[in-house]
Amino acid sequence: MERLVIHSEKIADRRAFLSICPFGALELDEKGEVVINAACRMCRICVKNGPPGAAVMENAADAKAFNAADWNGIAVYAEQEAGKPHPVSLELLGKASELAAVSGERVIVLICGENAGDAAESLRYYGADEIYVYERAELKYFRAEPYAAVFEHFIKGTKPSSVLVGATPYGRQLAPRVAARINTGLTADCTALEMGEKGDLVQIRPAFGGNIMAEITTPRARPQMATVRYKVMNAPKRRETPVGVIKQRRVSDNALVSGVEIIEVKPKPAEMYIEDVDVIVAAGRGVKKQADMNMIKELAALLGGQAACSRPLAEAGFLSANRQIGLSGRTVRPKFILTCGISGSVQFTAGMSKADVIAAINTDSKAPIFRVAHYAIIGDLYQIVPEMIHKLRERKKAVTR
Ligand SMILES: Cc1cc2nc3c(=O)[nH]c(=O)nc-3n(C[C@H](O)[C@H](O)[C@H](O)COP(=O)(O)OP(=O)(O)OC[C@H]3O[C@@H](n4cnc5c(N)ncnc54)[C@H](O)[C@@H]3O)c2cc1C
Ligand code: SF4
Repeated sequence: MERLVIHSEKIADRRAFLSICPFGALELDEKGEVVINAACRMCRICVKNGPPGAAVMENAADAKAFNAADWNGIAVYAEQEAGKPHPVSLELLGKASELAAVSGERVIVLICGENAGDAAESLRYYGADEIYVYERAELKYFRAEPYAAVFEHFIKGTKPSSVLVGATPYGRQLAPRVAARINTGLTADCTALEMGEKGDLVQIRPAFGGNIMAEITTPRARPQMATVRYKVMNAPKRRETPVGVIKQRRVSDNALVSGVEIIEVKPKPAEMYIEDVDVIVAAGRGVKKQADMNMIKELAALLGGQAACSRPLAEAGFLSANRQIGLSGRTVRPKFILTCGISGSVQFTAGMSKADVIAAINTDSKAPIFRVAHYAIIGDLYQIVPEMIHKLRERKKAVTR
């Protein structure tokens, strides 16, 4: 691990040096020495733009050297429920196989739970070389401590060079705990992963509010850990014949102890999530009133899809937060999406640009949404959406006649 060290003695004009930091993370202490405060984002601008040797990245004393040859394999944490793998696990397996083809490593899978064996069997059709199964009644429900202990046991036993975890509610709880236990880095919500030279995993994700794509590596620790959201990667096709060896593993009873007791599990009523639908009609700030969402919902229903929205509308309560598309919302890949009154900020398009067909309605012909749209409808949504509804109703009537 690296840390930033400031050598005040090498700085002639200390006040001028403070202004180099765009985040206000440099200040003078009572002795006039330059110190770093909690606002530091480790952007290294002070290292590059300061006087030579004034700000330097140094290895922390506790950083342990690792031998890359000891770490081999692209590992996937396969989340499962009632013996069925979560679809994000298949998407990660597809990516792991691509990465492994470049680095010449094996693909290994960790799966745990009460009926993990059933899910493990189905994963043999998706390209894993080895599937490590931890099947225990204590792992029936997700609890962070025992799951993290199993994960740690898996990593210490298999020593994978990279570990991919789905950025699901469970994956988001688990991955940072595991990374902290084994003293390695973690990049959350990657939108792309590439295999670099010498097996370095290049973890790509939006940064600074989505305005840049950061390429992050973990050069001084193993494994290299990344979480990836559902629907970001492509799931591989199911193979005709199974491959991959299933290996049963056990942890000690102590590792399964948890401070959390599950008293009752109440399943939520079945709900269709916007990630899972083929057609989406998404509303943005061009929709002025909550009541106007009715026409968006009706259009979505006539097209056999669901309504979604940009962040300002979710914040205004026009739709629930789980219908927000974008960087801080959901990533969707429908067959067809129609955006209505959405400008097309990078933060919005980060969540929908991989849809098969994109159509956009906007009064502004220069709106950035038209850069990603396949079909541009320049005009007022308050005229176009009712017209579409009218035409679709007419067509429906004609079909049912
Ligand atoms: C860290 C961060 C994360 C973010 N995450 C997200 C996210 O996940 N999702 C998200 O959506 N945003 C996100 N944002 C906010 C984002 O930057 C934009 O502010 C937001 O996407 C704008 O939403 P909008 O397109 O609905 O509104 P606007 O940008 O205001 O666009 C409204 C559009 O409607 C058009 N319009 C107006 N009236 C009509 C009409 N009658 N007919 C047709 N068109 C009309 C206008 O021409 C305009 O283009 C995030 C921002 C930050 C900093
Ligand atoms: S690394 Fe970046 S954020 Fe930290 S003190 Fe230097 S310039 Fe500021």
